[in-house]
Amino acid sequence: MATATDTRVLPQPAQPAAGGAALDIAPAEAELLRAGLAGDWIELLIALWPSWAFCPRHALGFASLELELQDRLFSTSIYYQHFVEAAAEIAAARFRTWRGIRYCLTPRAGCVICERLDAGKAAGLSVLAEQVNRRRRLDERLEEARTSWRERACPLCVQDGEGIVCRPHVLGGTKQDELGPQLAALQQRLRRFIGSMCAQKTETDPLDRFSWLETIAWFGGWEHPQRLLLERGDADEH
Ligand SMILES: [Zn+2]
Ligand SMILES: [Zn+2]
Repeated sequence: MATATDTRVLPQPAQPAAGGAALDIAPAEAELLRAGLAGDWIELLIALWPSWAFCPRHALGFASLELELQDRLFSTSIYYQHFVEAAAEIAAARFRTWRGIRYCLTPRAGCVICERLDAGKAAGLSVLAEQVNRRRRLDERLEEARTSWRERACPLCVQDGEGIVCRPHVLGGTKQDELGPQLAALQQRLRRFIGSMCAQKTETDPLDRFSWLETIAWFGGWEHPQRLLLERGDADEH
């Protein structure tokens, strides 16, 4: 559970805008995401380090794109596995203060897709962007978590959230008990999920299969993941 010993927290994320789609990737963004998925993965990993991975929109866009084009979440999970492993080590380091943890977890640059995006090309339509935003496969993957995701959500981002305080809220001043071990446990869940896609076919439980989104949400906050989970989840429940 979170310990909000420091009240200097970030403002609560806004509720989803009425009528606004949870995923709104523009054609130029979809093309950049596709180039990232198809390109040299180490090159992209290096490019993602200064910003601690993608921004929330592009993380979910990348995941939806990978699912639509390859029907898997392997690259998404591998990238975030690197970042959560590094964050767990930072948070668990002996003698490191909260100030030091926050310093290390602070991004030094904007998301690489945001940085590369030429705003002039953002308008228009494309089949790929439409496919990403329709997110048929992403919704299929989220179906299993519709009723249980709050167990893993940041309690400051999500009402009734019981998971790890997200990085934006940690950077905003909130402390999370046992942050290092909690992130290490998340990393283990993600590792098992990755293992299920490899030759060893590691067995997974629902939390393992949700860990890719939990990791994205830990790095970028729960606003976008929550929108995805609620946008069609409510309709499904009725
Ligand atoms: Zn971005
Ligand atoms: Zn949060």
